Amino acid sequence: MDELRKDPTRGHWVLIRPKTKPPLQGDCPYCPGAEHLTGSEIAAYRKNGSAPNGPGWSVRVVPEGDAYFRIEWELVREGVGMFDMLTPRGASELIVESPRHDDTLATMDPDALEAVLWMYRDRLADLKRDNQIRDILVSRRHKKAGVAPHHPYSRVSAIPIVFDETRRELREAREYYQYKRRCLYCDMLRQEINAEDRVVRLTPAFAAIVPYAARGPLETWILPRPHGCSYEDALSAESARDLARLLSDYFRALAGGFGDPGFEMTLHTAPNLRSRILQGDWATIRDDYHWHIEILVQPERANRVGGIFVNETPPEVAAAQLRQAWPGAAGG
Ligand SMILES: [Zn+2]
Ligand SMILES: [Zn+2]
Repeated sequence: MDELRKDPTRGHWVLIRPKTKPPLQGDCPYCPGAEHLTGSEIAAYRKNGSAPNGPGWSVRVVPEGDAYFRIEWELVREGVGMFDMLTPRGASELIVESPRHDDTLATMDPDALEAVLWMYRDRLADLKRDNQIRDILVSRRHKKAGVAPHHPYSRVSAIPIVFDETRRELREAREYYQYKRRCLYCDMLRQEINAEDRVVRLTPAFAAIVPYAARGPLETWILPRPHGCSYEDALSAESARDLARLLSDYFRALAGGFGDPGFEMTLHTAPNLRSRILQGDWATIRDDYHWHIEILVQPERANRVGGIFVNETPPEVAAAQLRQAWPGAAGG
């Protein structure tokens, strides 16, 4: 049985799972016509009322083949002597973004990308109805080193604990708020928009910036300009359209101006507030946390000394390069 074990010296969790069989090679299980090769579909956007588990979809959600987290497992919390153990009850889903096998976020049109953004919202809202699920990570890898090119999909990982990185981020935001009574991200937005040099793009609802302490060249954050702690509550018809266009342009800039590098995009949104365990958990989260998207370019190349990232491209230079490569920009 797989187990989540906590390292008490660092406070982080490790998933211990015996090695399983490598996935079957052969036809792509995510292409139209191969729907029988995935588990039963969880959700899909379909035109013309096509039936589930067959072709006719534009975005389709299926369980991940070799899932790390499973909804059918019972949640068990156990002390093992001085240690803490949890069963990895949760969900591992793939959001298949397009019926076209060789589509990328740079080749899909903004409307198709917008549908994927709505599916992110739908899956977050649905999974958050389960109060044993504490946190959900929606992430998207493009060209992962050592992984063969595959059908375009995003991954949804829902887990019974809060991801270590989310926990750190929430703590920093809460402490900033306790001290200043203002949202850290709203303050950052205001300052970055005024300073301009790290702003890649401003739209009515979003700012794309290279963060002040970017961990690697071209790291970019997309921050919604209105405050809101959760993506699934904030997405509206206008903001989804705006975000889809912005992301589409960003990925086109990466593909066209920088040789289509690999990247990892992660959605940072509030954990499941229904899973509150202690009274007072996340008491100020609606005011102190601000959902956003982070994109790391070629994360596997990140250079580190101990825990410190070393970035050889100053963020101000990276922002200027991205502005230049932006679709429609002079020289882009
Ligand atoms: Zn395919
Ligand atoms: Zn804010």
